[in-house]
Amino acid sequence: MSETGNPHFVEILLLEDEPSDAYLVKMALKEGKVLAHLHHVVDGREGLDFLNKTEKYINAPRPDLIFLDLNMPRMNGCEFLTAIKADERYKGIPVVVLTTSDVEKDVACSYQLGATSFITKPVDMPQFIEAIKQIGEYWFSLVRLPQGSKS
Ligand SMILES: [Mg+2]
Repeated sequence: MSETGNPHFVEILLLEDEPSDAYLVKMALKEGKVLAHLHHVVDGREGLDFLNKTEKYINAPRPDLIFLDLNMPRMNGCEFLTAIKADERYKGIPVVVLTTSDVEKDVACSYQLGATSFITKPVDMPQFIEAIKQIGEYWFSLVRLPQGSKS
């Protein structure tokens, strides 16, 4: 695969502490039509380190799209959303919340904080994969070359 400079690649940041859910997201993006670079971190603090290019993330790209799990250790999804929506540099990045249906207060918090959309983690794996694929393709069509190529 070629990568550097290819304007059709979408940079996606995934915050997910559950390895099996992260794996499903990776699979879904591979199956889909989107040329995505998926960057996986396991909690909100690591997500902020990625955005701020801290230490090992010094060469991290700015994500075009963020997939955010809500229930994570150290800094959960709502805390992460609060932090980035208060930051002029990051508040414009679309955030898709990955949620289980049993955490309604977290879902409410995400709506209030301006999450872009939601994918409920279903019991049904193919359905979850399909949802990720579709949202990836949707955002791909929106984010590619928004103001002309960099070169
Ligand atoms: Mg979780």
